[in-house]
Amino acid sequence: MEDRLSAIANQMRSSTLFGGAASIIPLRVHLVTMGCAKNEVDSADMASKLLDYGCVVADEPDDADCIIVNTCSFIQAATEESIEAVFDMCGLDNVRSGDAKVVVAGCMPSRYGNDLRVSLPEVRTFVPCSKEDNIVGVVAELFPGRLAPSKREGMASEASVYVKISDGCDRFCSFCTIPFIRGRYRSFTFGQINADVSRAVASGAREVVLIAQDTGRWGNDFSDPSSLSWLLSSLARKHPHTWFRVMYIQPEGVTDDLLDVIARYDNIVNYIDVPFQHASQRLLASMNRTGSGREYLALLERVRERVPGITVRTTLIAGYPGETEEEFNELCEFVEEAEFDYVGVFPYSQEEGTRAARLDSQIDEDEKLERAARLRDIADSISYARVAQRIGERVEVLVLGREEDGQLYGRARMQAPDVDGVVYLSEGDVGDVVDVVIGDTLMYDMESE
Ligand code: SF4
Repeated sequence: MEDRLSAIANQMRSSTLFGGAASIIPLRVHLVTMGCAKNEVDSADMASKLLDYGCVVADEPDDADCIIVNTCSFIQAATEESIEAVFDMCGLDNVRSGDAKVVVAGCMPSRYGNDLRVSLPEVRTFVPCSKEDNIVGVVAELFPGRLAPSKREGMASEASVYVKISDGCDRFCSFCTIPFIRGRYRSFTFGQINADVSRAVASGAREVVLIAQDTGRWGNDFSDPSSLSWLLSSLARKHPHTWFRVMYIQPEGVTDDLLDVIARYDNIVNYIDVPFQHASQRLLASMNRTGSGREYLALLERVRERVPGITVRTTLIAGYPGETEEEFNELCEFVEEAEFDYVGVFPYSQEEGTRAARLDSQIDEDEKLERAARLRDIADSISYARVAQRIGERVEVLVLGREEDGQLYGRARMQAPDVDGVVYLSEGDVGDVVDVVIGDTLMYDMESE
């Protein structure tokens, strides 16, 4: 995703104004993105819109006229990091002298609204998620006469891109702030999604990763309902040379139809990411989620039967309010039995405004961290062993780039971006899919022979 922003940045650097606007001095914009891939997509969209209005990128915030910090506020730790980033920007000489203006966008203004105006007076304006589409209007108001429509060339894309298929969430899990920050669930239309995918493919993307807060619900909210399996098969047919991967499918979204589509199309990677969060039925009910460890194990059996060899990822929470030692052990046993390929483990975070935050039975901070570490160790030992089983296997790898030390790397079908490790390679061109044999592994990473 950083590469996508760089691609946009390169375009922004070289963009020229045309027609009557030729005398405008292009506005230099620097974007800082905090948080997850969904935020990266939003930043790339904002950058793209500003590019259409003649802005140019400033690599460094010190060189910018406008600094946009796209914040994350999903949990307290993320909010603190975002505030730190805003303070850093506000402390720059060009901002203190009034030559540059700071805009704070994304989840933090959505979550905290007007309170931020009081606590962050140095910030010129706040743009909640729901207003990001109008970033051009916001920036134009701050810099009158500096933005005008601009013509630009097609943009070079990175080899792997994220495409958002919906926004918001209706599930209201008791621990989660997202429905309050991002609003109710709304699927993007097939036309919108296909346009994003087509643009990325035309400019060089070889993998499209579909993301949302709840991808499995896609299409349910249309007057003529549709489904993720339909969306995925339609995209796979239209773009037969592109890998498709879907992240964040809630357990209810794992339908037989979806699994059959994953199994049927060679260009849909055999990979599924299902956030289970816990295994205790009592705690899942308290989280406002359905299911139990036993049901989830049955679900996994169905997944592995219908798509042999599929890679499974999940995320889990340790230390949810009221989690007893027995319930925590139940979660550990579930992880051992489920044999996930990859697991994200998070200590429960008490978030203001959520139902779980008001429960009396909050667990001591150290205990939460200790449980998360124990769970992490169990999950890691299983994951490392499963990764090591790949030694000697022939796999396809999408070549992505070079590390700072020059080492070439890519990702195999079983590895999602940013979370599952990479494959180190000895040769290949960025954007190519190469066949390699896995020679060695180190924790999550693999090395070609
Ligand atoms: S499904 Fe995910 S985004 Fe939606 S409320 Fe639950 S944890 Fe939050």
